Amino acid sequence: MNRFFDILRNLLFPPKCACCRTLIPVVEEKYGGGLCLCRECRGLWNRAKEENCPTCLCPSHTCLCTEDKGSLKNMKIPKLLTYNPNVNNTQNKMIFSLKKVNDKRIPEFIASELSVSMGRYFKDNFILPDECVYTFVPRSRRAKGEFGFDQGQRLSREVARICEGKFEALFVRLGGREQKRLDSDMRARNISRSLRLKRNAEEKIKGRKIVVIDDLVTTGATLDGAVKLLKRAKAAEVYVACVARTGENKR
Ligand SMILES: [Zn+2]
Ligand SMILES: [Zn+2]
Repeated sequence: MNRFFDILRNLLFPPKCACCRTLIPVVEEKYGGGLCLCRECRGLWNRAKEENCPTCLCPSHTCLCTEDKGSLKNMKIPKLLTYNPNVNNTQNKMIFSLKKVNDKRIPEFIASELSVSMGRYFKDNFILPDECVYTFVPRSRRAKGEFGFDQGQRLSREVARICEGKFEALFVRLGGREQKRLDSDMRARNISRSLRLKRNAEEKIKGRKIVVIDDLVTTGATLDGAVKLLKRAKAAEVYVACVARTGENKR
């Protein structure tokens, strides 16, 4: 029945590519809805994942580079893309769409892709994906108010579903400023002041393996703040994964 409605919806409202916004031609086997990228952008996306990380020179989707920040120091961070805010490429457009376009296909697609990078890391390290609790760092209240959704929440919920793990919203953001407007030191201070665990979150964290999913890692200050709180609440293990890491012009 769902399939019928999907077909009907796609005929009435043909899906637009999340990257270039052109209409995606309706092809028989793609009637199932959920189609996110046109064929051309899908090719560009695949190439973007293969672009070398400027730090370790691995293809971005296999890179495990971390940030030189307190709690992140010895962690590996599976990811998908290297992001440069000054280049209007596929990476840039998709991160923009993920953050600013209220379209569930985008987090669904990116989560399915990110799960592959994470799955590889999990397998190599004997981590069972379905034993983990998946969470996110909420976006600032102001950004949530402006866009009406939280891309990190959608992303981590979807990754949890794919990995057959549990999704939990563990953090709250109390005021604070938008990280992107601040330099590295100010980001760390801002996050330690504004990021808190939710009430009753501690019992959901203690002894559990927690995975924090983030969209974009710029300086690592936000993730560092989140990981610290989880460790303080006695998580058994903390893992992180992100869609993209800023490769150039790191502030
Ligand atoms: Zn396209
Ligand atoms: Zn790397």
